[in-house]
Amino acid sequence: MTNNTIFCLSFCIILSICFFLYFLFFYPKFLRRTVLSKSVFLSKISDYARGLNFCNLNSEYNFSRPYKSKAKLERINVNNEIITLVYERKIDVIIRQGMQNSNKYDALQSFISTLDLTAPEIIKQYRISSTKFHKQELVLLIDLKQFYFQKIPSFNFRFYYRSPQGKTAYWFDTQKTCAEMYNLLTEYSEIEKKRLLAQNQRNLMNNKLRYQILKRDGFKCSICGRSAKDGVTLHVDHILPVSKGGLTVPDNLRTLCEDCNLGKSDAYDPFGKN
Ligand SMILES: [Zn+2]
Repeated sequence: MTNNTIFCLSFCIILSICFFLYFLFFYPKFLRRTVLSKSVFLSKISDYARGLNFCNLNSEYNFSRPYKSKAKLERINVNNEIITLVYERKIDVIIRQGMQNSNKYDALQSFISTLDLTAPEIIKQYRISSTKFHKQELVLLIDLKQFYFQKIPSFNFRFYYRSPQGKTAYWFDTQKTCAEMYNLLTEYSEIEKKRLLAQNQRNLMNNKLRYQILKRDGFKCSICGRSAKDGVTLHVDHILPVSKGGLTVPDNLRTLCEDCNLGKSDAYDPFGKN
């Protein structure tokens, strides 16, 4: 081999290595940067997403709660414990914001579905094929969607018992999506609303109304007919219990003796007879 051939061969090898490196490292970066700055499709989506004003949230929130014994841990009602944590740690704000983010994300998705990929003039200028350009647009779109999707948090809970010396530990993990947490929150607010309503109805009962009902019923138990003369104590009772939405109005009230009242508990008897 002559020196000339060796020189040519080395030159070719070096050149190939340069091309190889260029396509491996620099070209993808160049492509990404170009598409990011020139894609009309992506800039429309970015602008729209920015306009939605997503709340700044983490993608995950972790909570844990200790219990005094293994038996206690085994008896817990998971949803009750979660709701307790929600109110203790004030997570309800995060859940509501997460739900807003989830709705915003849906809006973003439907906005994206209305857009077409358009090949700008720039493709010719930079010698990027439109296939490559669009492929890169879609890769960047996935990143963009992922970025906003992560603003819809999920919630991890750990309920645990650890023995005093720390030798044994038992735990129970559960994960909830933002929507699940939101449903739980609404469900429990309904329960809370009912409790307050019932409290309100109980407060409406007063001595004047009580006397009015006793008088109306002839100071006799509406079930057994006994009165104070027979040695029984008379109560004014809600026919439909307040805990079930019953109101403190004369139509829903009746006189009962203690025996009949205790026997009836919370059962609803529309005929007023147990
Ligand atoms: Zn009675």
